[in-house]
Amino acid sequence: MKVGFIGLGIMGRPMAKNVMKAGHELAVFDFNKSAVEELAGLGAYGATNGKEVAERSEVVITMLPNSPHVKSALFSENGIAEGLSAGKTVIDMSSISPVASREFAAELEKVGVNFLDAPVSGGEPGAIAGTIAVMVGGKKEVFDKFYDLMMTMASSVTYVGEVGAGNITKLANQIIVAVNIAALSEAFTLAKKAGVDPNLVFEAIKGGLAGSTVMNQKAPKILSRDFNPGFRIELHIKDLQNALDTSHSIHSTLPLTSQVMEMMQALKIDGNEKDDHSALAKFYEKINNIKID
Ligand code: NAD
Repeated sequence: MKVGFIGLGIMGRPMAKNVMKAGHELAVFDFNKSAVEELAGLGAYGATNGKEVAERSEVVITMLPNSPHVKSALFSENGIAEGLSAGKTVIDMSSISPVASREFAAELEKVGVNFLDAPVSGGEPGAIAGTIAVMVGGKKEVFDKFYDLMMTMASSVTYVGEVGAGNITKLANQIIVAVNIAALSEAFTLAKKAGVDPNLVFEAIKGGLAGSTVMNQKAPKILSRDFNPGFRIELHIKDLQNALDTSHSIHSTLPLTSQVMEMMQALKIDGNEKDDHSALAKFYEKINNIKID
């Protein structure tokens, strides 16, 4: 299949490599020239803009930071939309606002182009290993057509409903992860202040009901104070903002999400926005005047 891939960052670069490894013909573009050159060195066509990628491809995958980046990649001058024609498909795998996904889908539908919102979880390790989880919204027949393509990057690809449902599912995921890391930091703070080694607390409880994938991945980072990303706080702030905006627009309220959002804002004010989201522990360290390690 002729596949386009736009956005070759922490996630997009390994995901694009996995699409190529599965034997698909790839055309790529990113503002970052060295990322394009790396993929071109592996056999991809290095394009100079999104339009060129779309002209050469039956389906274009985007993996960009947030809604404005996807909008610009799609609809700016020499963007993807200029190279699309009826029957082609865009699969946006970025984590963006579900409201924006629906707008983009409606705009592309006017010219006969299909759109799936297909955000992912699993982080950089999952992107490299080809084991990310993909949650997909859009027309079921379009999902079915590109299921195998998405599986070249993933260990699971799940249809969750009409367009926008993929990003609603991703926001649910991001709420659970954020609140979990905050709870982990809070619990380790209590242990440290009480004179109990947080490393032993982790060992003792990880096999019990409190144990989780979040705990297994993030506790070792907190306990060794390794805050290299991984998943940056600034991206998690973006996701929580999208969750709160979406929630307000449908008259629901997310009290825990708004609390963790304020913790992340405080970390950003202190210059920690490029840290991994496990650096939520730093917020607790600051207000309790301790070091959790
Ligand atoms: P990143 O910042 O590392 O990469 C984004 C890439 O997009 C950059 O290379 C940038 O140059 C490029 N870009 C931006 N605008 C562009 C445009 N208009 N045209 C072409 N290229 C453009 O981000 P990332 O960590 O790869 O995350 C991408 C998306 O995946 C985000 O929505 C993020 O929330 C989501 N995500 C990230 C992780 C993670 O662990 N990093 C996990 C799951 C989901």
